[in-house]
Amino acid sequence: MQSAHRSSTFLTVDLERDGKQFGHINIPQSPNNDAWGVQQVPIAVIKNGTGSTLILTGGNHGDEYEGPVTISELARDLDPARISGRLILIPTLNNSATQAGQRVSPLDGLNLNRTFPGDPYGSITEQISFYLNDHLFPVADAYADLHSGGSSLHLLPSAIVQPALEKEHMERNIALARVFAAPYTVVIDNLGDPRTAGAAAVRAGLTTVGTEMAGGGIVRSDALSICKRGVQNMMGHLGIIPGYHQWSTGVEEKILPLPGAKSFVFAPMEGVFELFHELGQQVAAGQEAGLVHSLVNPFEPPRVMCYETDGILYGLRMIGKVVKGNCCAVIAVEFEG
Ligand SMILES: [Zn+2]
Repeated sequence: MQSAHRSSTFLTVDLERDGKQFGHINIPQSPNNDAWGVQQVPIAVIKNGTGSTLILTGGNHGDEYEGPVTISELARDLDPARISGRLILIPTLNNSATQAGQRVSPLDGLNLNRTFPGDPYGSITEQISFYLNDHLFPVADAYADLHSGGSSLHLLPSAIVQPALEKEHMERNIALARVFAAPYTVVIDNLGDPRTAGAAAVRAGLTTVGTEMAGGGIVRSDALSICKRGVQNMMGHLGIIPGYHQWSTGVEEKILPLPGAKSFVFAPMEGVFELFHELGQQVAAGQEAGLVHSLVNPFEPPRVMCYETDGILYGLRMIGKVVKGNCCAVIAVEFEG
C-alpha cells in the first residue's frame, strides 16, 4: 500500500510500456555545487504482454559486485520478445555506495538495507528505500535482492530464503530460492531485523529471496555463473520466460538456517585473527575456531575464539585486523523441522 506521504523522486521510464527502456530513478538533491540536481539510480524495465513482475536489485551494498554485473548483463542482452511479464532491473540500488565501492552510502553514511520502509523526507538512502517500498514493491509479484559477502566477508555461494510468517508465503519463498540452484540454500533473517529490503518485500506480500554470492570485495566467474543461471531459473519458475526449465541441476536438497546469535564468532579483543578452518568445513560447538593476536599488546598471549554451534563454516572474514565485536566467522546449520 502506498504511503500518504508524497515523494519528490521521479522515474524516467514508464513501468507500463511494452519493450525495453533504460532510465533512472531520480532523487532531487541540492548540495553546494548543484542547487537543483538529482541523484540518479539506473533502472531498466523490460515488459512484454501480461505475466508476473519480478524486481531484481544489486548494489544494495556498494561493495558487492556479483549482483550488479548479473543484472546489468541481463538488462543489456534480454530480448523483450522472449518474456511474458515484466522485469524491473536496478543493478546499483544504492548507487553512490556502488560508485564509492563501499558498503554504505558516502552521502549520508547509511546502510540502505537497514533503512526500510524508508522516508520520503529523509536522506538520499532513506528516499531510495522509500521509493522501492512504496512505489515499486506494490506493482510486483516477486523480489530478489542479489548480495554477496562484500569486502569484509567471503560466503559460500547461496540462495537466501527470506523468512515469512505465513506458511504459504514461506513455501513460495523456499520454492523460488530452491530453483535458483545455488550450491547452498540458506535461511537468513538478519536476527529478525525488519529494516531490510527483503523483510519489507515480504510485508508487501512479494515472493522474496536473496543471494549471498561469495564476495570478498572481488568478482569470481564461478560465483557469477551461479548467479546468472539462478536469475534465469527464477524467471522460468515465475513464468516470465515461458517453458524455461533448467533449474534441477545442482539443487542442494538441504536448507541451512543461521541459528540466530550462535551463528557468529565475534572477536573478543582488538588484534589480527587467525581462523583454523576453511569455508564448507564441518565444525562443532565448543571447538576452537581460531585466535586473536593482539597488535597493541604484542606480549599478551592470543585469545581463543570458539564456535557456539555445530554446523558448517558458511562465512569467513576477509580482513585480518579486528576490533572487539567484529564478525570473524559465520556458521550455518542443517534445517530441523
Ligand atoms: Zn549485502
